[in-house]
Amino acid sequence: MRFSKQSRLSRRNLIAGAAAFAGFFKMTESDARAQARARQGFNRNSAPSQLKITDMRSVLVASNYDYPIIRIDTNQGVYGLGEVRDAGREGTALVLKPHLIGRNPLSIEPILDRLRIFCNHQRMGGGYSAVDMALHDIAGKVYGVPAWRLVGSKYRDKIRIYCDTDQSKDPKIFAERLRKRAQQGFTFFKMDLGTSLVEDKPGAVDSRRVATEKGLQLLGEYVQAVRDQIGWEAPLATDHFGALTVNDSIRYARAFERFNLAWAEDMIQIGHLGPGGDAPKDWRGYKELKEATTTPIATGESLFGLEEGFKDLIDNRAIDIIHPDPLTSGAIRETKRIADYASMHGIETAIHFAGSPVGCLASVHMAATLKDMLAMENHAVDIPWWGDLVTGPSKPIVDRGFITVPDTPGLGIELNEDVVKEHIRKGGYFAPTPQYDDYILDHFRRGGPYPHIDENGNPVVSQ
Ligand SMILES: [Mg+2]
Repeated sequence: MRFSKQSRLSRRNLIAGAAAFAGFFKMTESDARAQARARQGFNRNSAPSQLKITDMRSVLVASNYDYPIIRIDTNQGVYGLGEVRDAGREGTALVLKPHLIGRNPLSIEPILDRLRIFCNHQRMGGGYSAVDMALHDIAGKVYGVPAWRLVGSKYRDKIRIYCDTDQSKDPKIFAERLRKRAQQGFTFFKMDLGTSLVEDKPGAVDSRRVATEKGLQLLGEYVQAVRDQIGWEAPLATDHFGALTVNDSIRYARAFERFNLAWAEDMIQIGHLGPGGDAPKDWRGYKELKEATTTPIATGESLFGLEEGFKDLIDNRAIDIIHPDPLTSGAIRETKRIADYASMHGIETAIHFAGSPVGCLASVHMAATLKDMLAMENHAVDIPWWGDLVTGPSKPIVDRGFITVPDTPGLGIELNEDVVKEHIRKGGYFAPTPQYDDYILDHFRRGGPYPHIDENGNPVVSQ
């Protein structure tokens, strides 16, 4: 964008083509100066081999979903920020602290390998993910490169964003809300299509609160109303269908085929891990659904890891689109690994996201490196102070439906301490965490003498 703006100015002021090149060089010089200034602001440390993790602390921000933000400190002043999945608990990251203390934070993969046994789906992937972000923040600052550079190359300079939009039982009001999103600059849309929209209409839902044929007709009227407002070219995804079986999902997906949806999300809830249907345990149900409809099928916002969460869905081509939340799926390194594997199998990636600017920008760095990336979610475009939680990225962070990928070191953000402190849910601002000093797993005989039998069969006590 800056290049084209500069070019327009050059054309306006100076007709000669050479002048346009002058404008170009001027731009690159100023960019270089800006990046140099940005780097000077960071402690890049003087001895990477001597860098050691000294602490991990947290702050819990109250928002539409609470944001557990963590900070990993080092012996050289450089630190990294990370975030546990929205509405998760900071403790899922802090219990990992004893496994980090004393280690060199630049050993990103060896550290993450060690932490993998502490991960699971839903919010239990949040600790690993928060640590991944903080380590990439530190490494980027130390080496003077943006986090995306640590895992790949940029496929794009801006990430296309879609946002949640409150539903209304009045199709016209619902559609009007989506039209306003388009006015705000969004080019990718999602609407919730819960059966709650039609359940008070006679004959629209059965005893399980699943839409009948009449109910599906009525739900279709909502989609039609939205299509009438945003047009047929714009990608339109759907979500929150309620507690559906495989057969219910097939009926729904077929009924919506005529609307050329971008995807239908988390359709199958029966038989899944926990409520919401976003952590499927059985890829076979999704394969049945996918093969029965032309509506693209997406799932995965509460799955952790390639092998643990996504591989069966991808290997068996059981879905059309993976939809990881980087704050559950493993953040920068693991989510790129998942998405690259999906890409090799012809499956695109969309990103689920509902956290603070810390996790958002970490996800943006990751998303910039993905080959087949559709769009990334944001749940906070209507929260006025959301972007004020940090300094660093260009503001507004979500600008006309896109987020610019930072080129500054690490995640390219710092917390705005005053604003964060205005929104603390409970606990302090990165208060000490001695309650997490001890291992919860895998380290025996800690805390005192160790009575045992030596090699000669004599009882001894080791310290
Ligand atoms: Mg969802």
